[in-house]
Amino acid sequence: MERTLTCPRCHADLLAEQEYHGIVVDRCPSCEGRWLDSDELDQLEATVASTPAERRATIRYGERRSELLCPICGKAMTSFNYRAYNLELDVCDDHGYWLDGGEEGRVREIIAERVRGLARAGDAEASWSRFLGGLRRRGSSRR
Ligand SMILES: [Zn+2]
Ligand SMILES: [Zn+2]
Repeated sequence: MERTLTCPRCHADLLAEQEYHGIVVDRCPSCEGRWLDSDELDQLEATVASTPAERRATIRYGERRSELLCPICGKAMTSFNYRAYNLELDVCDDHGYWLDGGEEGRVREIIAERVRGLARAGDAEASWSRFLGGLRRRGSSRR
């Protein structure tokens, strides 16, 4: 599909089909922002080694009207805090997401952080049950 989109941030023409970690996005040559179609935020998250369970949970917090317009339909987009982090993204419910320059890297960092956090929680649980097991064994089979 041929299309030329205009950057919602600085109004330069977006360059179509720039590859980023294997997904094809529209990139602004001037402000380095990126336009992701609706399913491409999922794909971006999936570029970080993780399972669907680790990427589950609410993505949009604190929604409010954005001053940016959707490059496809021209309607005001919605700003939100990505996964309740201090990272503001913009979304058009019908078309996709706008990420300012560098925000795509932040999205990947947050997913990586989340995966590490869940792994840590799993470790804590495992050492707790080892600890309890140790208590139960103590006295009878001291080594
Ligand atoms: Zn731009
Ligand atoms: Zn739209």
